[in-house]
Amino acid sequence: MSRVVEHLAELTGFRDRDLLDATIVSAFRELLPPAVIAIYRSVGMAPEQHWLMRARMGPGDVAPVSDPLWSDLSTLPRLDSDHDRLACLSCDETLIVPGLPSRAYFALSTENETYGVLEIETDEPLADDMRRQVETVLKVYRNFHRLLDYSERDTLTGLLNRKTFDDSFMRVVASPYLDRVPDRRHEDGSGTWLAVIDIDHFKRVNDGFGHLIGDEVLLLMSRLMRSSFRFQDQIYRFGGEEFVVLMRCENAGAAFAAFERMRANVERTTFPQVGRLTISIGITEVRPSDTPSSAFERADKAVYHAKQSGRNQVHDYQALIEAGKLVDASRDSEVVLF
Ligand code: GH3
Ligand code: MG
Ligand code: MG
Repeated sequence: MSRVVEHLAELTGFRDRDLLDATIVSAFRELLPPAVIAIYRSVGMAPEQHWLMRARMGPGDVAPVSDPLWSDLSTLPRLDSDHDRLACLSCDETLIVPGLPSRAYFALSTENETYGVLEIETDEPLADDMRRQVETVLKVYRNFHRLLDYSERDTLTGLLNRKTFDDSFMRVVASPYLDRVPDRRHEDGSGTWLAVIDIDHFKRVNDGFGHLIGDEVLLLMSRLMRSSFRFQDQIYRFGGEEFVVLMRCENAGAAFAAFERMRANVERTTFPQVGRLTISIGITEVRPSDTPSSAFERADKAVYHAKQSGRNQVHDYQALIEAGKLVDASRDSEVVLF
């Protein structure tokens, strides 16, 4: 039991979910007889849902392995490729499937949804006391996830909050990406795009229908964003009706197309009671030298331009500079400095 307590102590020392999953998998590997332990998360939107392996350790492994976070959804196994795992996810209950090997599936859930499965593969079916120990550790894991959500997420929409933006900006920008894109290996970009999304004339919604309806619109808008973007893209609610998205894209055209799709989705949507709404979007490719605020400022200028030019538009900061519609103040200040 003391080993369990030690692992729990280690578990709650992290603020990083990747580390948390890797730690829990290593912990169970130590607690259990020789086994394969893995955590799978369901990613994507129905009916296009797939399994992302968050961490997996077999008897011979010294460290957990995982699928890269930037995996292409279509390369991951579909949910129905593993019926037992899917049954556990759907029922939110522990499932023991005897056999050789024997498999135990434990549901991983938040208050609102079951998002993944812990899977343990052993030669003998998992004993009852062992199963209870695993469930106890998972309770701590779940509560700890809730605490993380509480500090990192916006309560109305469930999107990431502004406070977490700086940290994750640095993490996303620091992790290599363009190395994998042959045409762009030697470029000055990062392959990471930052977008600022602002709802057009949102004050009219509040003034005309009241704040509660305004909040409903914000909630619906956040759902539209989740379904428009890929599972790895990070979506933040920055202020009242302003959102920020960090995504990886191989080039400006692909980034523009992703945001243009979002803009068109909103334009097509009928919001209950309110009717039609539009959004304005400004995007910029993050530069390796950027701070979170310097990148944000460029995207914000592109949004401002969209508002000035009639709203319901997507603009790329770099394209505006090249078209002579904006002056690149950040590059000017670099020149002045040196
Ligand atoms: P624009 O097209 O220029 O963006 O016009 P706008 O009316 O959207 O402009 P602005 O950004 O000035 O207005 C934002 C409004 O958002 C002000 C406030 O009434 C509303 N708002 C801010 N936070 C919240 C919130 O949490 N809930 C609701 N319901 N409304 C909010
Ligand atoms: Mg607005
Ligand atoms: Mg605004």
